[in-house]
Amino acid sequence: MERKNNLKEIVEFNKDFVESKEYEKYRTTKYPEKSMVILSCMDTRLTELLPKAMNLKNGDAKIIKNAGGLVIHPFGSAMRSILICVYEFDVKEVFIVGHYDCGVSTLNTTKIVEEMKEKGIEEKTLNILLNSGIDVKTWLHGFDCIEESVEQTVAKVKNHPLLPADVAVHGLIMNPETGKIDVVINGFDQLKNDL
Ligand SMILES: [Zn+2]
Repeated sequence: MERKNNLKEIVEFNKDFVESKEYEKYRTTKYPEKSMVILSCMDTRLTELLPKAMNLKNGDAKIIKNAGGLVIHPFGSAMRSILICVYEFDVKEVFIVGHYDCGVSTLNTTKIVEEMKEKGIEEKTLNILLNSGIDVKTWLHGFDCIEESVEQTVAKVKNHPLLPADVAVHGLIMNPETGKIDVVINGFDQLKNDL
């Protein structure tokens, strides 16, 4: 089977894109006009749907994505990006946007580890990691319930020792077919409680 070469196609397309000045309608600044950041899932159904369903155009918001839209570690890359948004790009609202039918909630981590072994990762490597405190299955595990996951991520961001008190942290869940949003947590309610 011939291997797909996206790179070749992309480079060819890109040449035309730039030459025909297609970029002009996307021109904006690096400062988010709506003073907001979104942390969401890398799900392919959300690539265009999420910004359209939230009425976001180029330049409106910072968007961070990972598997599940999670903050796993308080000093990991997702939280680091959120804090940079707040302090460097004047962001006042953080949107944690999970979605129904998330692949991360049904991850079979046992199967993934079996696949790793089939693809040449040695048992020895997994044991070395385990001895350094990294259980690959636990590390890969996502969440079981999207509502709980969104609530936990909102709490992790809201309670972060470096997050200023005036930043609202919202929790949303999107339908990946229709783009419909359910608001699980309205971050402004929390702000009122703090006053
Ligand atoms: Zn997902």
